[in-house]
Amino acid sequence: MVVPRTLRPVVGLLIAFLVALGLPVAGSAAPEDVRVITYDASQSEEFQQAVDAGAQVWNEHVQNVKFEPATGGSADVVVVADDGWPRTQLTGLGQGKIWMGRQAVQEGYDEIRIAAHELGHILGLPDDRTGVCEDLMSGASAGPECTSAVPNSAEIAEVEANFAEGKAVEPRLFTHEALTLR
Ligand SMILES: [Zn+2]
Repeated sequence: MVVPRTLRPVVGLLIAFLVALGLPVAGSAAPEDVRVITYDASQSEEFQQAVDAGAQVWNEHVQNVKFEPATGGSADVVVVADDGWPRTQLTGLGQGKIWMGRQAVQEGYDEIRIAAHELGHILGLPDDRTGVCEDLMSGASAGPECTSAVPNSAEIAEVEANFAEGKAVEPRLFTHEALTLR
């Protein structure tokens, strides 16, 4: 933005005022630019609260995109429960299907971390099996004792960039069977 020299002190004051109010100034989208992803967890059975919690984690950490429960009509993301390993079929950025697999929960993995991780795939993040608990996309490689459901700063930055750019993503199935963990 080019600001005439005479207006610069005014703009500076305005920004200072907005900062004082605690309003986002730079690096975050205007409300009308926030991409809303609707999700339908009504078929996720016992995992519904974990899915809501996982969505809430992302809502607390990113500003360019927001998860909202679907209210009728077709949702961008459908979450179901089954007896396999958790997996995500990504069909486009912010769109797909998540299976909250019971097998991982039976092996002790944290439900909210699973939900937040699978939602991370919906947000365009790949698996990154570092074994580090602080990395949300390390998934099950961090072991069942890891209950952190919070994305790290690089993961947050990547999601913000994906939605700022409207990044194109290829449809892809992310699977998490034990054999592929490490
Ligand atoms: Zn994954």
